[in-house]
Amino acid sequence: MMPDQREVRLSRLLDSLLRQARQTTPAAANLHARLHMGRSAQFPAPRDHAFCEMMPPEPGRATWCRITVAPRMLTAPRARQEGVLRHEIGHALLFLHDVDPATHTELACDEAARLLFGEPIYYDREDVQTTDPTGTTPRPSHLPR
Ligand SMILES: [Zn+2]
Repeated sequence: MMPDQREVRLSRLLDSLLRQARQTTPAAANLHARLHMGRSAQFPAPRDHAFCEMMPPEPGRATWCRITVAPRMLTAPRARQEGVLRHEIGHALLFLHDVDPATHTELACDEAARLLFGEPIYYDREDVQTTDPTGTTPRPSHLPR
């Protein structure tokens, strides 16, 4: 099957964000993640766009995280794609440093992303992460913390 060009572009966006994070932040020097296309059924709510998992260690390979994205990410505006990926990279950084699940909160991921990328994570009118500064920050209080 031909790779979907939208998927290729999203994967390149993730790679460039990870490079930026590794170059600017010593704590992210060993941060690795890869994009994985999920199925619609894994993302039942309209605001569900992605999730991040730590992958089991493999011999000879750096620890990495898998970022599974919803099919709707392929047609999302660029600012939403980037906002969601920055937030997931925040999760990846906290996984990499074994942050206690009790303090590995959604707000903590946004804070990690802010430190990595120098800008806050905003939320759009549908409560999805965005880089668009007309959105809301910090994360709206009615969302899971
Ligand atoms: Zn999250």
